[in-house]
Amino acid sequence: MKFTDLGLSAGILRAVAAQGYDTPTPIQAQAIPVVLAGRDLMACAQTGTGKTAGFTLPILELLSKGRSRPKQPRTLVLTPTRELAMQVEESVRTYGAHLPLKSLAVFGGVGMNPQVQALARGVDILVATPGRLMDHMQQRTVDLSAVEILVLDEADRMLDMGFIRDIRKILAVMPKQKQSLLFSATFSDEIRELAQTFLHNPESVEVARRNTAAESVAQRVIHVDRENKASLLIHLFETHGWHQVLVFTRTKHGADALSRKLDKAGIRSAALHGNKSQGARVRALNEFKDGKLVALVATDIAARGIDIDALPHVINFELPNISEDYVHRIGRTGRAGMEGEALSLVCADERAYLRDIEKLIKRDLEKLTLPGFEPSAVPSVSAPPPRGNGQRQGQRQGQQQTPRGNAAGNGQKPAGGQKPGGGQPQNAGRRRRGGGKPQDGAAPSANPGHRSGQRHH
Ligand code: AMP
Repeated sequence: MKFTDLGLSAGILRAVAAQGYDTPTPIQAQAIPVVLAGRDLMACAQTGTGKTAGFTLPILELLSKGRSRPKQPRTLVLTPTRELAMQVEESVRTYGAHLPLKSLAVFGGVGMNPQVQALARGVDILVATPGRLMDHMQQRTVDLSAVEILVLDEADRMLDMGFIRDIRKILAVMPKQKQSLLFSATFSDEIRELAQTFLHNPESVEVARRNTAAESVAQRVIHVDRENKASLLIHLFETHGWHQVLVFTRTKHGADALSRKLDKAGIRSAALHGNKSQGARVRALNEFKDGKLVALVATDIAARGIDIDALPHVINFELPNISEDYVHRIGRTGRAGMEGEALSLVCADERAYLRDIEKLIKRDLEKLTLPGFEPSAVPSVSAPPPRGNGQRQGQRQGQQQTPRGNAAGNGQKPAGGQKPGGGQPQNAGRRRRGGGKPQDGAAPSANPGHRSGQRHH
């Protein structure tokens, strides 16, 4: 199938072609006809699947055909983070380049006034984070009474960030009669419940999850003591000549501290998290994309929606305590068929998280130790039973292995299937973060020590 088969008009097709795309991705091929037909949609798709164009293109088509309204937004797209809001709005502008439609992104962390003025001048497609949109609603600087199409993008993440009450209030001021689209990486009970409240007879579409699709990502674990993680990471940078590495930490403070250590070691980096100003985030992202920064050290929330294709390396400096976040993280690499590597530095007290992750992705990750960085408390290794030609063997400390293939170059798998020991809480899983009013683009920080919680999936 080609984009030209989808019934989109010439101006939109021209803009798509200018991006170099001629074949729709699976989510686009499924979603575009549904949206063009005016139906509600419930789509299970993660970032990187092309979902943004999947809703942007048909919405542009519908709006360009419909009756224009001089002032009020006709489409509202809600996103969890500022970065995603900016990217969605940029897509709207890109694909709508030849259409007379106006778009605007409103999000927190920047002044209200320019947004107020732009809203007053009139906007067709409004992309917003819930918190800032609520501010505009309270100040009566936005009028949502003419919304014809509503999109909830990354709805699961919005719920995780505690935006549900805001979303309900926003839904309440919009016309009941409208077309609604919901995009989510997961379909939890909570998402289904929300969907039932505002989707009418929706068509469901689903594309393969990244963790099953992206076989091109090599996922490896290095066991290392917590206090040696930073020096190990620096060692890896120095020995591999890496560039464009996205490094994940669990906390904002951890991101800042690690970025400082990397800089000290001559590895140019920046920290990206919710406490950074909008300007600082945009600058860091641009410098990273331009290759001026070798590493970006980010928290999960800040990294959501960052649109960088084909990152060669993603490093989990700390494992996420929510297993699904691991999948989101590694989805940053190995895109578009490019080879990618996701490397996790795992210390003793993270082994339970590792077990959760392996359970979720239904596979055992390859485990390594590096000479000079062996963990002091060796994971209780139970060597897997010898298989076939006996090539898979239990891990031997000090064996020379490097993250990308072992140095021996003999194709021998280093300790695959080995399971670290340690107690395992039964109910460790995804849980709601925080309880208070969330800030736009900055989730309340998760409490890494506390692992009990409800399972939503
Ligand atoms: P998204 O999942 O919307 O964040 O999109 C992921 C990336 O895929 C973005 O960089 C898009 O520009 C790109 N993309 C979207 N549609 C296509 C397509 N049909 N062919 C190739 N790349 C695409």
